[in-house]
Amino acid sequence: MNKKLSAKDLDVFRNSLTRAQALLSGDMSLLQQEVLNNGTGFETRPGDTSDGYFQEFNLELLERDGDTLREINEALGRIDAGTYGLCENCQCAILKERLKAVPHARYCIECQRKAERDLL
Ligand SMILES: [Zn+2]
Repeated sequence: MNKKLSAKDLDVFRNSLTRAQALLSGDMSLLQQEVLNNGTGFETRPGDTSDGYFQEFNLELLERDGDTLREINEALGRIDAGTYGLCENCQCAILKERLKAVPHARYCIECQRKAERDLL
């Protein structure tokens, strides 16, 4: 069964994507502000393994640049369209954990693996 993301989840992902978009469009002031505030958009508890998530995510973004910016813009469009979080290939719900690591993911893990082997 597809488990739809809640409105609150969507807000969190929208914030993450907006920040990532700002980063990739060169709006470093917003990013620096976020880093100073240690804001990840996700509620974290002391010792929570999701601490530092946003840092890892940024590193990944920096490796990819232009393509990622396009993916992020499209992901924001999917939030508005109500299709965010659904795999574009098999239409299953993408795991929330995966979206936290890659908020602009368009495929579920299974389909992503196929895409990386050019099987789609
Ligand atoms: Zn899929």
